[in-house]
Amino acid sequence: MSNKILNTLLYVTAVIAIAVIVVFFIKLSNVESDGKDGKAGTDLVDAEKLEGLSALTGKQGTTPGLKQDDGKDTPSVTDTDVPDATGYDVSPAPTTPTDTEDNPSGPVTPTDTPTEAPTTSTPEPTKEPDDKDSIVTVDVSRIDPTKPIVALSFDDGPSVNTASIIETLNEYGVHATFFMVGDNVKMYPERVKMVYDAGCEVGNHTVNHKDLKKLSKEEIKKEIEDNQANINAALGVTISSPVRPPYGNVNDNVREVCKHPMFNWSVDTLDWKTRNADAVFEEVKKSAKDGSIILMHDLYASTAEAVKKVVPWLIEQGYQICSIGEMFAARDVTLENGHLYNSVMNAQKYLESLNTN
Ligand SMILES: [Zn+2]
Repeated sequence: MSNKILNTLLYVTAVIAIAVIVVFFIKLSNVESDGKDGKAGTDLVDAEKLEGLSALTGKQGTTPGLKQDDGKDTPSVTDTDVPDATGYDVSPAPTTPTDTEDNPSGPVTPTDTPTEAPTTSTPEPTKEPDDKDSIVTVDVSRIDPTKPIVALSFDDGPSVNTASIIETLNEYGVHATFFMVGDNVKMYPERVKMVYDAGCEVGNHTVNHKDLKKLSKEEIKKEIEDNQANINAALGVTISSPVRPPYGNVNDNVREVCKHPMFNWSVDTLDWKTRNADAVFEEVKKSAKDGSIILMHDLYASTAEAVKKVVPWLIEQGYQICSIGEMFAARDVTLENGHLYNSVMNAQKYLESLNTN
């Protein structure tokens, strides 16, 4: 009889010993994999193992607490990540469930729900105005329409000199319009983006810089819309750019086909001809007026140098410097697609003539 009991005891002890060894090796293999996976993942796995073991031994639930009590080192974040004596990660025990439990327990948590509600509902109405057929939505809050304004415009880029001009504009916190040409848009998409990201206006100067007066309606349309597509591709967003016809040339076909407002200039700096920063500066000093659109080209280093003089001088004279879109919006001129503007003053005269007729 006593032998039988002894045998049973030995048998039970052997089974428990085997079970402990098996569990130990299972854990060992798990710990090895911890090194490769992210911490969040291993914590989850360990938590599951922990629960499984507690079901087997019936005492695992107390282990995390015991470990911290026994340990002489104060528990830190790294401590909890290190497996304890049994090879189990202690950290999963408290974790986040308490956070989620807290919220339901509190009957009303007004701070959570109101913040979510507006964010889901507001984007819808704000997106609609973007679909309107207009030039890029402009923020004119920083412009005082009662004070002098000039718009700077740069044609035929972007080029290697565009960055320097943007740098100067950023330095003084002012904007400009860049009328870009197809090949350069395709070649330097990051410069198109740089102009846009600086808060400047990305204008459309057609794909091939041809005299639009000499083209068919279909060709005109293609010159304008293909370049708009190139600009949008470079920006990764859809905008409707103002158009500057090459050489400033338009006819009835261009007016009919162009689905954007068109802008020429009222001050020609002749920067392309002189290639001289001082000459460009003198031209601006001589000709700039309230409402002027100043023409330059961001192709030339001399123009980039001129901008460093032109911008501070204009500011000293009391001018607010902005993009064409900003200037016309600040002066509350409603732009017409297919109409050619060359200054705010002329635009206002044009509108007056419409009203009197
Ligand atoms: Zn041009």
